[in-house]
Amino acid sequence: RSKDGGGNAHYTYEPALHAHAEERRQLEFSLRAALQREEFTLNYQPVVDAHSEGVLSFEALLRWNSKEHGFVSPAKFIPLAEDTRLIVPIGEWVLKEACREAMNWPEHVRVAVNVSGEQLLDHNFAPSVVAALTQSGLSASRLELEVTESIFLRDATLARSALEQVMALGCKIALDDFGTGYSSLGYLRKLRFSTIKVDRSFVQGAATGNAESLAIIRAVVAMADSLDMSTTAEGAETEKEVEMIRQLGCRKIQGYYFGRPMSARDALGLFRNRSFVHDQSAA
Ligand code: C2E
Ligand code: MG
Ligand code: MG
Ligand code: MG
Repeated sequence: RSKDGGGNAHYTYEPALHAHAEERRQLEFSLRAALQREEFTLNYQPVVDAHSEGVLSFEALLRWNSKEHGFVSPAKFIPLAEDTRLIVPIGEWVLKEACREAMNWPEHVRVAVNVSGEQLLDHNFAPSVVAALTQSGLSASRLELEVTESIFLRDATLARSALEQVMALGCKIALDDFGTGYSSLGYLRKLRFSTIKVDRSFVQGAATGNAESLAIIRAVVAMADSLDMSTTAEGAETEKEVEMIRQLGCRKIQGYYFGRPMSARDALGLFRNRSFVHDQSAA
């Protein structure tokens, strides 16, 4: 790192930087074609009632199997889709597909769809929700939209107004990954979320004896209760975590313990086997 060696450091670093940019460029190129090529599918992960363990809803999770890159993780392609605004048409496809699939489920089971800030701030957002509901015939009360705190960072007024439009249709709104982002609680006063999803990091922390995580979950549950919102604990993997979540009073649980994200076909299959929850955890 000396000044003399700086030249060499420069030349060894640049190719790596270039390779990264090149990889991203190729991924973007493929992502642009992915909708047309029908490379996307949705997986569905159950959310269960903490006490009865019955399925309350499924969260739709996007999967991309690219011709050039194979299976690409959402952690990689979702941010890219957001940066390029490709998330707008992709998100419209997700909404339509999820609503269509949910029509095959028992009527009390909801579908949850993740919505990025880019989508929410697009002027066509509410109309695209209406289109997905109308084309599928799904009742609005069975559609839950998941947003994260980050949507309030850019244009809080516009984000709120977009959410109010879909709430007026009868859709539910969940606050995803709660506690990991920008946590001004002001918007909890203004928007009636149906559910606060407590991020997996707190669930994990609490189960391993982290006092702060435990205190935070307790506080979130108490706050949600008094605001007439419910809580979902995300990412419960072990019996210990499930037990702790129940004791803390979270009403809903999602996580590998009760079921991994699965194909639409497997999700449908669960309804034919009433004791699926136990089958899943034993698997
Ligand atoms: P998210 O909305 O918080 O979804 C939960 C993530 O946690 C999913 O990852 C799920 O597979 C994973 N998960 C669930 N239970 C467990 C568990 O017990 N243990 C562990 N380790 N993980 C668990 P996935 O499917 O990779 O999705 C990652 C993120 O990508 C999502 O986080 C969401 O923010 C985003 N995403 C996925 N699908 C969509 C979509 O259709 N649209 C948008 N805008 N974002 C999406
Ligand atoms: Mg989510
Ligand atoms: Mg989440
Ligand atoms: Mg999370």
